[in-house]
Formats: sequence, C-alpha cells, structure tokens
Amino acid sequence: MPIYEYRCNQCNREFSELFLNLREAGKVRCKYCNSRNLSRLISSFRVHQTEGSRLENFDTSKSQGDAFYKDSRNVGLWAKKRMKELGVDLGSKMGEIVEKGRTGKILDDYNK
Ligand SMILES: [Zn+2]
Repeated sequence: MPIYEYRCNQCNREFSELFLNLREAGKVRCKYCNSRNLSRLISSFRVHQTEGSRLENFDTSKSQGDAFYKDSRNVGLWAKKRMKELGVDLGSKMGEIVEKGRTGKILDDYNK
C-alpha cells in the first residue's frame, strides 16, 4: 500500500495519497484544485527496498484471507504494523492518512 507525496504545480500545495493499488496512482489529482499537474515528492518514509520488492515481500495469501481485509479495521492495522516493521515513524499526518484509508473515505474520493 504505497503512499506518495505530491506537490501541485497549479496551486503549489502539497499532499499525500495512500493507494490501495498501483493502478490508482496514475489517476491522482490535486486535493485542492483537482489539477493533474503534479510533481511527486520523495516520501519521508522511503525505505531501502524498492516499492516493487516491498509489495512482493508482502505475501497476503499466507496469513490472511479475504475476510481479513473485508474488515476495514484490519487495513489500517496492517499498514501501521507494516510501517512499524519498516522502521517508519508514524507522524500525525500518517495516522490521518491511514485513518482515511481505514474508514474507506479514500475510496469515496476515487469513485467521484
Ligand atoms: Zn492544486
């Protein structure tokens, strides 16, 4: 579940987006002005592994089935646990994003 940070070239604001899958990353728009003219920033919690290998290493089929992820509470739980494993310091901003993903609001955004 990658999280990207962007700067909008239109209104110059920065924001973060958590993606449930990489397909969504291509559809990102500015949260403030809806522009697609964005620059991706280097994420503050970037780890040594590439995104691809991180996703590869996370084998969801082993420990949890579909039911685990149907409970939205577990989504945030996983993200928090995973980032802790990666040595990521969860700031308040991060908690907010995880919370957004957890409650499904992020999906509403994409369905607009
Ligand atoms: Zn903007």
